[in-house]
Amino acid sequence: MESVRSLLIHPSFHHLLSVRLLGTAAPRTVNGKRLAVCPFPGGSALPAALSFEDSSAFHVKSLQELVRALGVFKFCSFPILVNNSGKLMSLARSLLGKRGFSLILRPTVYAQFVAGETEGEIAVAMEKMSSLGLRPMLAVPIEEDLGESTGERRYNDNLEAMLECVRLSSSNALTTDPMMQLKITALLSPELCVKLTSLLSEEQYDLDLLVRAMDGELINFPGLTESENTHFLCGLQRLNKVGEASVMKVRVLVDAEYTYMNPALALITMAMMKKFNQKEAWIWNTYQCYLKESTSCLLDAINQSVNQSFCLGVKLVRGAYMDKERKLANQESRPDPIQQSWEHTNDSYNGSLDILLDLISQHPQRFRLIVATHNEESVRHAVSRMAELGIDKQAGSVCFGQLLGMCDHVSLTLAQQGYLIYKSMPYGSVDDTLPYLVRRAQENRTVLQGIRKERDLLRQELRRRLRLTGGR
Ligand SMILES: Cc1cc2nc3c(=O)[nH]c(=O)nc-3n(C[C@H](O)[C@H](O)[C@H](O)COP(=O)(O)OP(=O)(O)OC[C@H]3O[C@@H](n4cnc5c(N)ncnc54)[C@H](O)[C@@H]3O)c2cc1C
Repeated sequence: MESVRSLLIHPSFHHLLSVRLLGTAAPRTVNGKRLAVCPFPGGSALPAALSFEDSSAFHVKSLQELVRALGVFKFCSFPILVNNSGKLMSLARSLLGKRGFSLILRPTVYAQFVAGETEGEIAVAMEKMSSLGLRPMLAVPIEEDLGESTGERRYNDNLEAMLECVRLSSSNALTTDPMMQLKITALLSPELCVKLTSLLSEEQYDLDLLVRAMDGELINFPGLTESENTHFLCGLQRLNKVGEASVMKVRVLVDAEYTYMNPALALITMAMMKKFNQKEAWIWNTYQCYLKESTSCLLDAINQSVNQSFCLGVKLVRGAYMDKERKLANQESRPDPIQQSWEHTNDSYNGSLDILLDLISQHPQRFRLIVATHNEESVRHAVSRMAELGIDKQAGSVCFGQLLGMCDHVSLTLAQQGYLIYKSMPYGSVDDTLPYLVRRAQENRTVLQGIRKERDLLRQELRRRLRLTGGR
């Protein structure tokens, strides 16, 4: 661990800190050697085949899948439909009823972005992923926002769903090193997470306190009422059960949600890491680079993992809740927590990538990273830096992640080049996956470049198929 500590005071780390704190870049160095600034696009170490221009990645898709994807992306290209997709879906649900609504959604948006509902459907979807050289990462899209709290019984049911997800993920013989995603708000009320977040702005909770509560000790957490404390203890016990079930079997990637509860989610996740990540990273946290504070959150997490001697698993994303975050900040007359432009988010993402890849190149056992993005530039940046730093693409310390139904040309091209790719696969009923589907529709409006390219490649592939059929 001493060597990791020394890295934190290393010039390369300082370079990144100086960019963050001062907005200035000192020359990049690793192991005392000055590095060439990673040229982008196409650093010298970048494999030429990573151009993501090849529509042959879509040869594996059926005609029905091609047409469906094109239809869904077309739908997502109308801002008026996407901006109101939540309201439209609720309206359609109440007009058509559960069955009618499901009949429309299942073969279209749901089939595009969701793996299925029954164990059989999920198994088929997982096998298909594996046959394409991609690793399935199951996600139970149960989540709650403020005002939707359900109660202890429902959270216990959700715990069963999470444990089932651990079982499904680990039982797929075709997947090595399985991963799954988890939302803490499925096991602990959002109201409590908000309360904890406001308490954390005044005083820090010791991770050991949470670990002891996970182990069954009746801790009294300062600042909480008796009922809040009881609910917190129950929630920590539920999370402990997920941790115990998954350790040595499945890596659990905890999702980041809204800024008004993220500090609480991060605290709980770090406590889980402290308990379960002593030798390897089984529990991972998510860092949203669209937030102005994301780099400092990441650096704090690195410091904590070093000072308290546990392994850190990081899911690096741009962030999925931009519209709502901005709207809330505006309503509450607070400064906008989101970076001022997409370009700023990109800089933040690529800067965090650099921090993590530098650390991983020296301590691949202590730090792990999933580059969770559809952004080709970030993927190339990561691939290029991995080659420069000599990070083995098959060793597992760095992998890539994309969402089911999005940017398959990126996933398949990376897999063909031997990188480890996970495809996030939510599953569940149409009703349970609705908030997730609304976010995907909205995202496909903002994920401009990737989706435009994917649409062009899908069209190319469709034309190729039609020519082939026409020529017969
Ligand atoms: C495996 C996986 C797991 C994920 N888990 C989470 C999670 O736990 N929590 C979460 O929030 N998201 C999560 N996401 C979603 C992710 O945050 C992004 O929303 C999504 O991947 C799109 O970002 P991109 O890097 O792929 O795409 P890009 O097309 O490069 O960028 C789109 C993103 O840039 C940002 N952006 C767009 N316009 C602006 C602007 N004007 N100003 C500032 N920023 C802007 C937004 O974040 C937007 O989503 C996950 C994604 C993947 C692939």
